[in-house]
Amino acid sequence: MLNKRPKSADLIVKVLKSSHLDEDFFYKTLTFTCCFFLTPFSFFWLLKGKFMLAFIQGLALIFFCCNFRQIINNQPELLPRSIVLAFIGSQLIALTFYEGSSATLWTYPLLSIYFFILPIKQANFAAISIAIPISYLLSLSGDVIFTIRYMSSITAILLTTNLIVIINSNLQQELVNQSIRDPLTHCYNRRHMDAIFEHSIRLFKRTAAPLSLLLIDIDHFKKVNDQFGHIVGDDILRQLVATILGHKRASDMLFRYGGEEFILLLPEVNSADALLIADKHRLLLSKILLPDTNKAFTVSIGVCEFKPAMSVDDWIKGADDGLYRAKRGGRNKVCA
Ligand code: GH3
Ligand code: MG
Ligand code: MG
Repeated sequence: MLNKRPKSADLIVKVLKSSHLDEDFFYKTLTFTCCFFLTPFSFFWLLKGKFMLAFIQGLALIFFCCNFRQIINNQPELLPRSIVLAFIGSQLIALTFYEGSSATLWTYPLLSIYFFILPIKQANFAAISIAIPISYLLSLSGDVIFTIRYMSSITAILLTTNLIVIINSNLQQELVNQSIRDPLTHCYNRRHMDAIFEHSIRLFKRTAAPLSLLLIDIDHFKKVNDQFGHIVGDDILRQLVATILGHKRASDMLFRYGGEEFILLLPEVNSADALLIADKHRLLLSKILLPDTNKAFTVSIGVCEFKPAMSVDDWIKGADDGLYRAKRGGRNKVCA
């Protein structure tokens, strides 16, 4: 009855964090690249006698080198990333002011950087904040056609990038959903249960609010499958989940623990109340009729309240012991 709990690989947390890991890697590479890129440019402006530009880029070079040193030594970065990106944007505006239209080509890689590192709203804000002054500077030069071309291309890039970012985040959300849900019943899977249990126990240790779980097992489910077939069995599992989801509190969480075993996590519920809640669900589930019969299936439920000295395994074992007693006592029962 008690399945061995897999060591938590905690995929969900990895998936959720992966975009941040990518951003970190990207930002480190960007900082490193800036150190290399800015060095020749600083000398180039110096040789061309553009001392202001050389000075600004020299300062930027010193900043990026120091920031890179901090990053590789795992020390806090010198400035928040949004400020660094705003600084790079202002450099581009200054470059356009001094150099004219040729500098505007740097807008395109800068927009990609903004959309990769910043949240979408901030990225749009940053992009528009550099595109407007650059367009204004271009318009001052009198080249109307180029200014219109620049503005049109930036608008097109903003539209397509927003679309890509939105599609990408929807796909990522879908991936997260698939990694935490059971494909048959769509309730949460065991992998997600491991992550949630760890979190709930941490919360318990901080707040000492009671925390209980119900281990719900369908009685004689093998017979249901044998008599009605697996497709009906699958449908029963889906109906069970829909019934529990339809009657649980918003803060309760339902997980598919094994084939026909489910765990309902009950935050802020002690064992006495958990027994009452379990009995409510047992009665509700006993109203689901098997197809073409007026017979219903039943469930047995083991209940266990979390105690401070327990591990997750002890906790589930406590509920499993209750379930065992319920089965031994004739099934269709709730036991703590
Ligand atoms: P008990 O009252 O002691 O729990 O008896 P049981 O028959 O429910 O328990 P047992 O562990 O012997 O059998 C569980 C059955 O659940 C066997 C398996 O075919 C069925 N099962 C597990 N997963 C699924 C599933 O995804 N779909 C269907 N249709 N059946 C499943
Ligand atoms: Mg079972
Ligand atoms: Mg069973």
